This record gives sequence, C-alpha cells and structure tokens, in this order.
Amino acid sequence: MDQQILEGIPARYWHRLEDGRIQCDLCPRNCKLNDGQCGVCFVRVRQGGQIMLTTYGRSSGFCIDPIEKKPLNHFLPGTPVLSFGTAGCNLTCKFCQNWDISKARALDRVQDFASPEAISEAAVKSGCRSVAFTYNDPVIFLEYAVDVAQACRERGLKTVAVSAGYISEKPRIEFFRHMDAANIDLKGFTESFYKNLCSARLQPVLETLEYLKHATEIWFEITTLLIPGENDSRAEIEALSRWVMERLGPEVPLHFTAFHPDWKMLDTPPTMTPTLRMARHIAREAGLRYVYTGNIHDSAGQSTYCHVCDAMLIGRDWYDLTVWNLTADGQCRRCGTSCAGVFESEHGKWGRHRQPISVQALMAEV
Ligand code: SF4
Repeated sequence: MDQQILEGIPARYWHRLEDGRIQCDLCPRNCKLNDGQCGVCFVRVRQGGQIMLTTYGRSSGFCIDPIEKKPLNHFLPGTPVLSFGTAGCNLTCKFCQNWDISKARALDRVQDFASPEAISEAAVKSGCRSVAFTYNDPVIFLEYAVDVAQACRERGLKTVAVSAGYISEKPRIEFFRHMDAANIDLKGFTESFYKNLCSARLQPVLETLEYLKHATEIWFEITTLLIPGENDSRAEIEALSRWVMERLGPEVPLHFTAFHPDWKMLDTPPTMTPTLRMARHIAREAGLRYVYTGNIHDSAGQSTYCHVCDAMLIGRDWYDLTVWNLTADGQCRRCGTSCAGVFESEHGKWGRHRQPISVQALMAEV
C-alpha cells in the first residue's frame, strides 16, 4: 500500500463556497467543511484546499457470504459473494445493526489493507462470483468502490452495492455505472421516520430507486427493516407497497426484515413474525410479485413463487436452496412464465455459511 493511500486520496464531488468553506456534494447532507473538519460520515475530511477520502484501501474485514444474505434472492442464487466494508456512514440510524462499523472513524476498525486488484484476485481465488460493498454504506467510499468494481469487472466478477441510496444526482450516475446489482434500504415511508431516526430525508432515496429502475440495467431489490411502533403500521406498509408497485413495477423484490434491539434503540422490542407476514401479505395484495420476510426462520416467506401458476420456483431454508424449478433461461418449469432476475442454468451451492477471510493472507500465498 503506497504512502498516499495510507494518508487518504483526493475525493471527488465538492466545491468551494464564497465564505471559504468547502462543500461536499457526494450525498444530500452537503457538509460544509473548514480546514481539518470531517463530514457527518467521519471519513471525508477537508485537508487544505481539498476533501480527502481517508478510508481508501482500508477494510473493516472480509467475509464470504451467501448472496441471499445481502439480501438478493434473484441474483445468481446460491453463489458466494466476497463482502467487505470500510468505516463510517452518512446516515445516523438509531437502530443501526452494524453500528460498530458505521460509527467508527476512519482508522478505528481497519483490519485489512487491500488494493482493488488484491480484492478482485482474492474473490477469484476463493471461488466467489461477485464482490459486495456492504456492512457500511459504500456511497461514502465511492472512489474506492469504483476502483474495486473496475478491477472486479476486468476479472469477470459481478459487483453488488448494499446501500441506503442516500446519494446526490451526479455521483449517483458514476457510482451505479459500476454496479451490476444493488440492495437498497428503504428504511421507512415517511419523512418523519427518516428525520427522527436517521437525520436524513426520504425523497433522495426514492429518487435513487426511480433512477435505478428507469435509467439503468442494474438488478436491484429493496429491504425495509420493520421497527415496532416506528414504521410497521398497516397504512405505512400499504403506502410503501403501492409506491413500489406504481413507480417501480411488480417485479422489484421487496424484503421485510425483522428488527432486533440495537445501538440507541435497545428498549424497542424485536419485530414479531406476524407483523412480517402481514407486511408480506399487504405488498402481495398491492400487486408485487416477489415479497419476502427476513431475519426470521420462515421458509414459506423466503421462497420464490411463480406469479402465474404459483409453483415454488426457488425454495429456501434460511440461505440454503431446497427447491430449484427454473429452466436454464429463468422460466417456471411448470408453466413457462419468466421469473424476473439474473439466473444461470445452474444455481450456486454455497449454502448458508459465512467464512471470514484475510485478503492479505490470501495474497501472501501467491
Ligand atoms: S459524503 Fe460525508 S462529507 Fe460528504 S456530504 Fe455526505 S456525510 Fe457529508
């Protein structure tokens, strides 16, 4: 790792203000920085006349996961994905399930230094089909994510972004141009939820979702963590489902996942299974074809069904695939209807396990 990367690299997307501060234009927070200050994300820091990204090449750890864990149920099912994150986040969710990473400053959590080439090489060596930017939001390490994505594509690997979609218009174009798939957190469906629990806004997230649907070929799915008393009312779930149906169409998969008490919401109870099942029912009634429950054991709610004949196309038990009823080109074996997604003639056989790896150790074996 060269000295420049250890110190950070110049960031893109900022401009000078008349009062001498520099405004970061990467996400809708638009932090305005004096010299030496970092943004809300902790990892973009003004140094003199520019903003630097301080986490380039610095990972908080690597793990091989099932792709279903991202969660992506319609993208190369059953395959392993090399997953990593860095430090920091541009949202401040009180319910964060990865707060030890997202609230870490640039250097606190660094476990593995890894160049884009080393990451893509490690993914190939370990049999992964894709690399996922996850654990913390890749928007804030855009320059690193883009370089890793380019190295991955050169080696025939796919790229996956797991993100809250809180990104401004111009960088959104660059960021997603390098991604093959995404899971976007739609954390709630009211501005008050975003404001009170994430100190953010809903509208930019909706704009990202519409952008992905109407201006890209990226395969994407949506995740909504249902938090008791905060975003789990029937009215809010109906409104969210209707919006997805009307603005994105019936084929975008929607995952309702269970909240567990964490970070600053330790007094909020976990999501009950009936709430997740109710949400799935509401979204299917709204016309969505692929709706899932997550973070609970619910084989029926985690399997994929043909929207015409109702045959089980992909059965799941946690992240294990138990049924496969798709033809080589992704059609229902019973009635021939296409299932939306990115499928191959055979599904992967990775199963449910997670395997932490060290990219440095893997590269040392070369
Ligand atoms: S990316 Fe970070 S520094 Fe830039 S606007 Fe967002 S929170 Fe602020």
